[in-house]
Amino acid sequence: MILMIALTISLFSVAQNTYMDAEAENEEKIYKGGETYEVKTFPHKFKTDNPKNIILMIGDGMGVAQVYAGLTANKGHLFLENFKYMGFSKTYSSDNYITDSAAGGTALSAGVKTYNGAIGVDAEKNPVKTILEKAEDKGLATGLVSTSSITHATPASFIAHQESRNQYEDIAADFLKTDIDVFIGGGYNHFANREDGQNLVEKLEENGYKVEQEMSAISKIKKGKLAGLTAPAHNGRMEERGEMLEVATETALNILKRNKKGFFLMVEGSQIDWGGHAGSTIYVVEDMLDFDKTVGKALEFAAKDGETLLIVTSDHETGGMAVLNGDFNNGMVVGEYTTGGHTGLMVPVFAYGPGAEKFIGFMENTDINKKMEELLIKN
Ligand SMILES: [Zn+2]
Repeated sequence: MILMIALTISLFSVAQNTYMDAEAENEEKIYKGGETYEVKTFPHKFKTDNPKNIILMIGDGMGVAQVYAGLTANKGHLFLENFKYMGFSKTYSSDNYITDSAAGGTALSAGVKTYNGAIGVDAEKNPVKTILEKAEDKGLATGLVSTSSITHATPASFIAHQESRNQYEDIAADFLKTDIDVFIGGGYNHFANREDGQNLVEKLEENGYKVEQEMSAISKIKKGKLAGLTAPAHNGRMEERGEMLEVATETALNILKRNKKGFFLMVEGSQIDWGGHAGSTIYVVEDMLDFDKTVGKALEFAAKDGETLLIVTSDHETGGMAVLNGDFNNGMVVGEYTTGGHTGLMVPVFAYGPGAEKFIGFMENTDINKKMEELLIKN
């Protein structure tokens, strides 16, 4: 009898917990509205037809639904509305209809379709030179910024050549083989606390880098080489990392613009993807707005500079997200998700600045790289 009661109670509590979990999940699907920001309009007058600088911004996992969720949450407007030239990118990889961030990143960095998991290598695992490396060869300044670990798939694809995205320590070591001017993101442990016992932070310092871990110190650096390693692994969510992405992007631009020949900078809003994986509209919106505000900083720089091409795109869509309802008055967004993974959906491409008119219509993700290289490297 006692056993029966205990069993009944425990079954009831399991059932109740399941119910409560389901409730909590659904709550994450609704963004109730929050802080908004003013969106400025920038002029479309540029000094040249060929860009001296390129800023490539990647919203990881950012499809049209993620953009529109952000637009609704900011009560009807985003900085992205400044772009006049737009297209769609087909994101499939060499071995899969649905890409991951490594193959997606390598398509953008090196212009080759490769297998899921590949970092800067082609489908046969041969290293392929990236636009960042080609820019270096030409004497341009280069930089990478991300809200994930800087050794994570997307930024890694621009600087490293490894068969697998999981080789974080090998990827970190690849940074030392280059002459990159600025990189800011998480991943301190992949440089400092390594299984092979090497201390790459010391090596970076020997190579002339200032290595800093606090954004307050990072943002003060105006010249020279900078390695900003802002977290042991990934940076936290918005409430923890604050304006890290905006400040890091501005810091990188300040340093890179000193090179008279020009620069290439990749900036990744890494966690829009994680919001999609979690099926959380709250997470998607927070990171989408953080990314869009950073797009605003890049637009401000490009508008003032007049010789900078700014491209904003994504490596793939995440979550199969749909926007089921929204309210422009209070910023409420109701999202729904059809998968916990990525989808094969095409993603938007936005371009502003000299050369922007080339980024229209349907294109392969690899075409984005080819168009950038024609404008920045081959000119
Ligand atoms: Zn993902």
